[in-house]
Amino acid sequence: MNLTMSDTKQKVTIVGAGLAGALLSVYFAKRGIDVDMYERRPDMRKAEAGAGKSINLALSTRGIHALKEVGLYEEIKKISIPMYGRKLHAPDGTLTFQRYGKDDSEYINAVSRAELNKSLMDLAEENPGVKIRFNSRCTGIDFSKPEVYFHDDVSSESFSVKSDTVISTDGATSAVRMEMMKFPRFNFSQLYENYGYKELTIPAGKNGEFQMEKNALHIWPRGNFMLIALPNLDGSFTCTLFLPYDKELGGENSLELLESRDNLKSFFSNHFHDALELMPDLEEQYFSHPTGTLMTVKCFPWTTGDRVTLLGDSCHAIVPFFGQGMNAAFEDCTYLNEMIGKHGDDWGKVFREYQKIRTHDTDAIADLAQENFVEMRDLVATPKFQFKKKIEAELHKLFPSRFVPKYSMVTFSRIPYSVAHHRGKLQEEILDILSHGIDALKDVNWQEAEELITSRLEPIGELE
Ligand SMILES: Cc1cc2nc3c(=O)[nH]c(=O)nc-3n(C[C@H](O)[C@H](O)[C@H](O)COP(=O)(O)OP(=O)(O)OC[C@H]3O[C@@H](n4cnc5c(N)ncnc54)[C@H](O)[C@@H]3O)c2cc1C
Repeated sequence: MNLTMSDTKQKVTIVGAGLAGALLSVYFAKRGIDVDMYERRPDMRKAEAGAGKSINLALSTRGIHALKEVGLYEEIKKISIPMYGRKLHAPDGTLTFQRYGKDDSEYINAVSRAELNKSLMDLAEENPGVKIRFNSRCTGIDFSKPEVYFHDDVSSESFSVKSDTVISTDGATSAVRMEMMKFPRFNFSQLYENYGYKELTIPAGKNGEFQMEKNALHIWPRGNFMLIALPNLDGSFTCTLFLPYDKELGGENSLELLESRDNLKSFFSNHFHDALELMPDLEEQYFSHPTGTLMTVKCFPWTTGDRVTLLGDSCHAIVPFFGQGMNAAFEDCTYLNEMIGKHGDDWGKVFREYQKIRTHDTDAIADLAQENFVEMRDLVATPKFQFKKKIEAELHKLFPSRFVPKYSMVTFSRIPYSVAHHRGKLQEEILDILSHGIDALKDVNWQEAEELITSRLEPIGELE
């Protein structure tokens, strides 16, 4: 890595040792910058084995790139499960497979959130310059020094810490961002979806085997709601049910109306019959798990007083429908590290350039993620969508440098999200024109396709 720090040993305070904070501390350690990281929760590595449920997420190219940069990817690969496409479960139980990429070389990876976080913390603590203090909740900040205030929830002690700079990676409800909001001209928006989610588990079979296709992301698209499932190494699947809160939006299929065991059972029996058969303890799980909320946070500026910045969900929480929140947060780390390579410990320049580069792109992935919800829960099941996917695959084969499916740009490349968003819209228009009034590939006007593509889409160069 390029070391352009001044001679003075730098000390950084990171608030929040979640996925982004832990990764960032490794990037810093590699540059010889000391890090003190403060985390509200206890040390998850010391929690009793088997405690809590297994929650997984999809890791893709942007996240992988960052893990490769810090030398952790090979280890994480061993605990990841490739998912080559979507396995759609129709109401009558019919299964259909929709590949994500052009072939088996393009896939997303199901990985345990906790194991990934623990590996990042282990790697961080291999460096003597990195210290993590747990049970330490940030309660405020004085941006001028900068000095951060904490409360230790175990000892009930309050304390404060001064450092050269502070990076806030304390997630979607960031305490540091709350303080920034008190400044004039701080733009902020927070949008809750009218949907909530429940995490459920399909256990492994009797001999630890997977009870559904292992290498796929399973989706039960039902128009206004959906169930999804990602595989875990132990043969189980973590499922997430996304459902409208209120009956005004969801009618009888709303969280509000699933208040009794009977309602729940008949809801699953009507809509997710095959999943129900694999979840003997559905009712226990459903009624003991909390309902999660979904929100999008956008804000600007991310940086205050040249020495404090936000990173990850603390400045751009997004809905999970493109599987990109963590990947985007990891990409923030990649860019921030690049800016340090360029500007050394001139933190003002580092932060200003980082936020300038990132805000367009994180706004774009927030919009992409919201748009993808409709695609996942509804469109994927329609013949029109499936036909357009076929045309899209052909166009990518014929014009690989100009027509790259939106999903691939977001998931299998490091093309800026804003570019992927813009080109995705242009491509959608082309697909609408080419698929209008037909339903077979043999009827596509390929001459028109060439004209549309060469006139509307510039080549985008090599994809990573
Ligand atoms: C249902 C669901 C599914 C998802 N699936 C995917 C997926 O498949 N792929 C993907 O890329 N992303 C996914 N995401 C998004 C992903 O979880 C987040 O984008 C990612 O966790 C952001 O990392 P972060 O470190 O910024 O925040 P977090 O992971 O939220 O970490 C914040 C940390 O700060 C700590 N903290 C909070 N407040 C304080 C405080 N006051 N003081 C000290 N510490 C504090 C927290 O305890 C936590 O450890 C999903 C999200 C949800 C809700």
